[in-house]
Amino acid sequence: MEFSVNLQGKTSHEAILLRQDSELRLLDLMKRCLMSKLKCDREYAAALSAVATQGLKMDRSEEMFGSLVASTWKTMMEGLEDTGKLMKQNTINLETKVLDSLNNLYAEKRKIKKFYQEEYTKIQMQLTNISEEVNRKKLEYQKYLELYKLTRTKFEEYYVKSGRGGRKLDEVRDKYQKACRKLHLTHNEYVLLLCEATEFEKDFRTALLPDLLQHLQNIQEATIYCWKQLLQDITTMSDLTSEKFKKIQNKIENEQAAIKRNEEYTKFTEKFKTSPTEKLDFVFDASLTEDSAVKFLPNQLTVDNLTIDWLRNKMGDLESSIAESEEKRTSLENAIAKSPIINGKASLADPEISCRISMAQVHKEREIEELKCSERKMWKQVELIKSALNELGCEEVPSGCDLSLDNQTFKNDSNEQTPDRHTVAYKKNFGTKKVVNILRKQFRRKSAPSSPTAPPRTKFRRDSSSHSEGAEAVDSWVSITTNKSLVEEEWFHGVLPREEVVRLLVNDGDFLVRETTRNDESQTVLSVCWSGYKHFIVQTTSEGQYRFEGPAFSSIRELILYQCTSGLPVTGRSGAMLIKPIPREIWELNNDDVVLLDKLGRGNFGDVYRAQLKNDKQIYAVKTCRGTLPEDHKKKFLQEARILKQYDHPNIVKFIGICVQKQPIMIVMELVSEGSLLIFLRKHGDNLNESHLMKMCLDVASGMMYLESKNCIHRDLAARNCLIGQNNIVKISDFGMSREEEEYIVSDGMKQIPIKWTAPEALNFGKYTSLCDVWSYGILCWEIFSKGGTPYSGMTNSKARDRIDAGYRMPASPNTPEEMYRLMLRCWEYKPEDRPNFEQIYTVVDTLCKTFG
Ligand code: ADP
Ligand code: MG
Repeated sequence: MEFSVNLQGKTSHEAILLRQDSELRLLDLMKRCLMSKLKCDREYAAALSAVATQGLKMDRSEEMFGSLVASTWKTMMEGLEDTGKLMKQNTINLETKVLDSLNNLYAEKRKIKKFYQEEYTKIQMQLTNISEEVNRKKLEYQKYLELYKLTRTKFEEYYVKSGRGGRKLDEVRDKYQKACRKLHLTHNEYVLLLCEATEFEKDFRTALLPDLLQHLQNIQEATIYCWKQLLQDITTMSDLTSEKFKKIQNKIENEQAAIKRNEEYTKFTEKFKTSPTEKLDFVFDASLTEDSAVKFLPNQLTVDNLTIDWLRNKMGDLESSIAESEEKRTSLENAIAKSPIINGKASLADPEISCRISMAQVHKEREIEELKCSERKMWKQVELIKSALNELGCEEVPSGCDLSLDNQTFKNDSNEQTPDRHTVAYKKNFGTKKVVNILRKQFRRKSAPSSPTAPPRTKFRRDSSSHSEGAEAVDSWVSITTNKSLVEEEWFHGVLPREEVVRLLVNDGDFLVRETTRNDESQTVLSVCWSGYKHFIVQTTSEGQYRFEGPAFSSIRELILYQCTSGLPVTGRSGAMLIKPIPREIWELNNDDVVLLDKLGRGNFGDVYRAQLKNDKQIYAVKTCRGTLPEDHKKKFLQEARILKQYDHPNIVKFIGICVQKQPIMIVMELVSEGSLLIFLRKHGDNLNESHLMKMCLDVASGMMYLESKNCIHRDLAARNCLIGQNNIVKISDFGMSREEEEYIVSDGMKQIPIKWTAPEALNFGKYTSLCDVWSYGILCWEIFSKGGTPYSGMTNSKARDRIDAGYRMPASPNTPEEMYRLMLRCWEYKPEDRPNFEQIYTVVDTLCKTFG
């Protein structure tokens, strides 16, 4: 489409001008946008370099040596940096080349427009001018024509009028001639002008305007070439897929392709190769068990009464933890088996999925492994506990802590270990012949129930010199005593506590049978002396028979007899042989021989009764121990018997025996006719004179001097714990306080610490000596002279304690002899070493008694 042909019209001309304006605006817009883009690109390039710099600050530690991932990352960052650089270069190029071109183009376009506008105006003006000139000429023509006509007419008129002469005529003629000439000239001019105008108009239409338009088209189109070039330059210079960029991209892609999971750590592993983890041994520190005070074996669990329940609970806990763990593990294993990655449903080619799934799986697998480890640990512990418990077999749980009082309370008691000596001491110390005979009769009755050929008791005595003799004794005894029940056997000791029992077993092979209660269940126990003491629980079979490791028997008695005669050890592990049965001691009475009469009082462990022994008219006092009390309280109850058994003194209540065949266990003592001294003083105090009261103090001093000589600390000396008998004789009683413990126990009806009777050092430091008893003796004397008064009356225990510490001492009761009060004050010296001992007290009181006559 030619401009020259198609754009000649006026509207076309106006459109051309508008088009030129639009193009200029477009160029201007392009320029502004390009500048903005350049700014953006420059910033982006700078940002990329910054990112690359940051990305290149990688951990350069040795440990990353050989990492393909790290090296790829480095390349990526370098690529980024290069990309930045390239982009920057592009911006420079765009700025210098494209932006300049754009500016030039803009200027060019403006020039074109100006040129066109000027040229167009110029030729248009020329056309206009000539047209106007034609018009003017025409008007001039018309004017001169009119003038001609006028002058001619005038001339003709004058000519006619005047004829051919006259000045006027000349004048008119001259004017006429001039007008004629003018008209002729004008006519020619007009004709020429019309010719010129016609020619120009033709030129305008056919040459000038088309030519201008043709030129315009040419130069317009020429700029389009530049324009296109410019756009292409912009595009090329912004092309991120250009070869340079592609090179960077390819380098990165190649490196990435080179990342191989199995090569990533090869160099690292080579570089940091070490030998496998060394074994760490956890060894029992043998020095811990070197101390002879403890009898633990390294790496072996100790199974005793202190630990057995704990061990069983622990084993139960472990077993349930194992079960829990196994359940959890199984469910995890099932979950893994169902996992798509395992059965191949998931595409491992999809790295993201495979990475995610495998991580979840790793967690599960790790958890399974951990559970397995913890199960193994627990199994090992269970095995250890099980084998320790199995080791025990039918042996009774040994005692973990020997609570024997001998060392502490009865330091002179070492010779009392042999039963015979007990008996001798018993006979010597206590009994009237009468009582001994009754007991002997009872024993004979028990040991020879039906057969006149029953073996003599001596056969069973522990002074049998050799084991073979003992075995013979057993043989003959077995054959002739087949009708006996277990309870009737001399060697059945009922519920005699283990602590008591072991003192009867002296030589290897000595044995006896007893009963014990464990977790409310009664068990029959065979106690044997065999390199120490062994206690075997008789096992009951499902058929209701009895056995240890060997054959089962229908009665325990038969089982024991079999063990004696077979010559086989009770258990393989212990090797314990039954050689000599140890019969009950003279003080082990039969429960059924005691007939309880009326109640005398109430003690800490149970009621105290008047009682009779069968075949004996004599009345005794019997302390009972409630069956509901815990085992250790029963043992404490019997401690009093064990202590009393050794003493023989008129001012100490006498011990007759214990009944431990069955519940309730009992202690039989002499009956002290008037009962509690405290109650007696309160009741009959007014009838007692100073000499009576002095005599009571002397009795107690005498008994205490005896205990002091035996290194016995009473710990609970008070009027309530003394008894009064015929002729107002006072006897010290109630030896039932625990002496194992440094402090009194406050539980289950046990006494609280008798604060007002107890010496400050015992209260403050738990330090008990005979001199503590001396303090209590002072209080007891005060009780006697106050006729059963309450010490520190009106003061609470703690108040009394504080006041004592502050130096306060009770005043004497009325009628207390001065010397006696002085003695009390000496007994209440704060420092124990400042107090008199019982020997000194006895001398003082004895002298005083004599003065009172
Ligand atoms: P516990 O040791 O439990 O405190 P006690 O020995 O104090 O028991 O005895 C409680 C009560 O039983 C005494 O206060 C007393 O009345 C009475 N009693 C205890 N033993 C005898 C006895 N041998 N003769 C007479 N009465 C006694
Ligand atoms: Mg008491």
